[in-house]
Amino acid sequence: MGVHPDTGRAVEALTQQRLAPIVDLVAYRADDGAVVVANSAGAARLRVGLPAEVLHGRNPVADTDPMRFADYAAEAADPSPPNERHAYPYPDLRLASLFAAVDRAPDVAVVHTARHYFPEQGGHAGEHGSLNVVQSRAPLLLSGPGVAARGVVDDHARVVDVGPTMAAAVGAAERLPTCLDGRPRTDLVAPGATRWVVGLLWDGANAGDLLHLAGTGALPHVARLLERGLALRGGAVAEFPSLTLVNHTSALTGVGPGRHGVVGNAYVDRVTGETVVPNDSRTWHRWADWVRPGTSTVFEWVGGSDPARGTASVNEPVDRGATYSTMGLIRASGSAEGAHALDSMLPDPTTSRFATQRFVRVDPDYAWATQVDDIGLEQVLQLWERPADAPALLWWNTVGTDTGHHAGGPRSAPSRAALADADRRLGAFLDRLDALGVADDVTVLLTADHGFEAADPGVRGEWGTALADAGVAHRDVGPGFVYLEPR
Ligand SMILES: [Zn+2]
Repeated sequence: MGVHPDTGRAVEALTQQRLAPIVDLVAYRADDGAVVVANSAGAARLRVGLPAEVLHGRNPVADTDPMRFADYAAEAADPSPPNERHAYPYPDLRLASLFAAVDRAPDVAVVHTARHYFPEQGGHAGEHGSLNVVQSRAPLLLSGPGVAARGVVDDHARVVDVGPTMAAAVGAAERLPTCLDGRPRTDLVAPGATRWVVGLLWDGANAGDLLHLAGTGALPHVARLLERGLALRGGAVAEFPSLTLVNHTSALTGVGPGRHGVVGNAYVDRVTGETVVPNDSRTWHRWADWVRPGTSTVFEWVGGSDPARGTASVNEPVDRGATYSTMGLIRASGSAEGAHALDSMLPDPTTSRFATQRFVRVDPDYAWATQVDDIGLEQVLQLWERPADAPALLWWNTVGTDTGHHAGGPRSAPSRAALADADRRLGAFLDRLDALGVADDVTVLLTADHGFEAADPGVRGEWGTALADAGVAHRDVGPGFVYLEPR
């Protein structure tokens, strides 16, 4: 697919100085397959594995250090920094992956500045989705058999490493496809060291705050894991965009969006011209409709290594090959309401012993997330009733952490309450393992799909009018995925 003739005018409109407070940078694919990044201060051409070529001014992704702001004090002292003080790890690889999906990727990807607040277009007090290091940084903590008790170490991984690492831990490394974007981190957990692996995804958990709170005693059960394991200070770098379903899919398939095809929470299918919205609680159970055929999952790798060993996907859209799957139950119900089909069966959030009730009472999103996460724990405890029946791989998605971070941004009262709620549910699960006498036999991996930054309510605006004023007919899905209309 060639470069759209309006691309130049669109980029010029989007990179005008007037929009600099809300447009961090734009990215698009050039005719030769390179990716160009540009903002009001300059532009650069990126090719995978080669040094960036500055086209004019300053390279908008000059700092690619994955460890930037990994120091908690540094992140807290300079929250939501502007482009020139931010970092953009793996910009060549991550942007090339997005634009490799030529039938789904936008003509121009617009990255919001960290401070941009856009409630009229679905934005929140806390946001993610950017290429920047803080919004891309998911936690990564490993604990249990095969993991050295090293505490917090100065290293980082990538979200695409998560699935391959879990598969290797339970002895399924030989089932990994030969050509993945991620790799099993066997330097962190010994291959085949464990009979059981449990993967926890705390959606949107800010990596720095998670480790900080584990250190202060506010997350005692995360601390319990860390005592017998390690955490990477640089976390796991999400794929771009640092959005939910893009990265749940990347974690559990070991490939980026260019290959698994779930390029955004919403995108345009250029073959049909339709806007597709995969990341919605009403459509999560249809994940297999959007992922590319031939993309395999960690459930298939682990199940394929020994069909007698079960796998489970709890409250997680990505589930193909899992022996037990929440979304499979929803599909079987035949309801068009998706995850809401089960709303009437969900537990009462106002009596939850895990949730912070002052947020349940005032925030309907927090209340629903509490119900979903409480029933998630119920499923996990049922799956882990007896070691003999426990799945070799259990993947457990927690949604309330994303809700809490959207409500207030990292280090806010609701984000910290949501982390504490998730920690209490984790505690109930670890207590079950203790009661069964297997706490030292289960390897646990705790991660997320992306990080979070706080928006600034004073930084408002939109770029659609600037595009229209420049005569650029377009559809903006996201906002941030700009598709130029045919001339
Ligand atoms: Zn998410």
